[in-house]
Amino acid sequence: MMRQNMLDKIVLANRGEIALRILRACKELGIKTVAVHSSADRYLKHVLLADETICIGPAQSIKSYLNIPAIISAAEITGAIGIHPGYGFLSENADFAEQVERSGLIFIGPKAETIRIMGNKISAIKEIKKFGITCIPGSHGLLSYDMNKNYALAQKIGYPVIIKASGGGGGRGMRIVQTEKELYKVINITRTEAKMIFNDDAVYMEKYIENPRHIEIQILADTQGNIIHLAERDCSIQRKHRKLIEEAPALGMSEDMCNFIRKCCTKVCRNINYRSAGTFEFLYKDNNFYFLEMNTRIQVEHPITEMITGVDLIKEQLRIAAQEPLSFCQEDVVIRGHSIECRINAEDFKTCIPSSGKITRFHAPGGFGVRWESHIYAGYNIPSYYDSMIGKLITYGENRDVAIVRMQNALSELIIEGIKTNIELQIKILSDKKFQQGKIDINFLEKVIQ
Ligand code: ADP
Repeated sequence: MMRQNMLDKIVLANRGEIALRILRACKELGIKTVAVHSSADRYLKHVLLADETICIGPAQSIKSYLNIPAIISAAEITGAIGIHPGYGFLSENADFAEQVERSGLIFIGPKAETIRIMGNKISAIKEIKKFGITCIPGSHGLLSYDMNKNYALAQKIGYPVIIKASGGGGGRGMRIVQTEKELYKVINITRTEAKMIFNDDAVYMEKYIENPRHIEIQILADTQGNIIHLAERDCSIQRKHRKLIEEAPALGMSEDMCNFIRKCCTKVCRNINYRSAGTFEFLYKDNNFYFLEMNTRIQVEHPITEMITGVDLIKEQLRIAAQEPLSFCQEDVVIRGHSIECRINAEDFKTCIPSSGKITRFHAPGGFGVRWESHIYAGYNIPSYYDSMIGKLITYGENRDVAIVRMQNALSELIIEGIKTNIELQIKILSDKKFQQGKIDINFLEKVIQ
């Protein structure tokens, strides 16, 4: 039912599964939706289901999903009150958030100034250091153009090091340097790539931590100053620094360290007046958390947190944007069971080359504890312009073993024909003994695919 204070109508400024996920939450809350889409996306599921639709440009993202004036105009024309950016695209673009709010609309996410501080990796590192969170040894600032300084720094922190783009994301814009003789070349390549992809050649250096786990903490904050944390996710199963499988809660962690780091994260949020959903990402090794970055938006893997807490993170984002206080406090958050998410990508899993085209046959899995988040259907044509993730398969069980068996069953039921997918790879990982025993770290996958 619609609440008194609720947003009346919002623009879904995204596509694919996340646009559909937000649309479903809006429907539950009685919020009307406007799907803004590219000309390639007329037949996307959420576009077909939205109350209103506006084509904002051609297929290329730069002319549609990244076209700020077109998105804001669509909100104005349709009388929408807010804009949900989803993830990717403009979700961590502080200028977009600012222009949305300057136009008198609600940006469903943090304030622009918060995104400016935390959305940039280098300034986020500066901010969180004040709160007792450990950072990875490194430059903690922009790398100099003076190579003598860079050689000295790498020497001090010790090889291997990793060169990362300050504006990077999605596993792109980072390179490992094993020895001194590669340093100059790698810095230059990373700068050039960063300029090309992120329009910013700023890079920094970190110690390359060997075989850590990727652990992240989900935060929710309202506009009344209530801040809660919703347990840890383990996102160690990655390929080319991109997540492939996530699970929650993260098992085998030091409870003391988790309690400490959760408190630190909420302190940071209080200090920067954080609002909406956010995630602190860490590398975890030998009972220590090393800060990686903060994501000032909803994340792909949010459903696993929802499954173990019962909290609908998208609905909470919408309520927070409508100035409502969180309807529960930290003590109300109870972690139950275990959840796993497998990202289903349209790609050749051996080469990672994306696959596009028509889905000729499709069958979704089901059953107790199985959740399928996806926009695809039989006859749907996957365009070649966007990210290759076409669905997320999520399972829940009273413990990790049950969640794994359900995932194995669900993967074997999932049929997607006409394009290439990574389902076979996911089945291989789920049946791996080490994975089943929970012996995972960020290099796990390299060891599985040979
Ligand atoms: P992105 O924003 O592109 O996701 P992150 O900084 O979050 O980049 O890092 C993504 C992944 O890259 C991490 O989960 C980890 O696997 C790897 N990585 C990043 N920094 C380091 C590091 N200093 N040492 C080891 N691995 C790293």
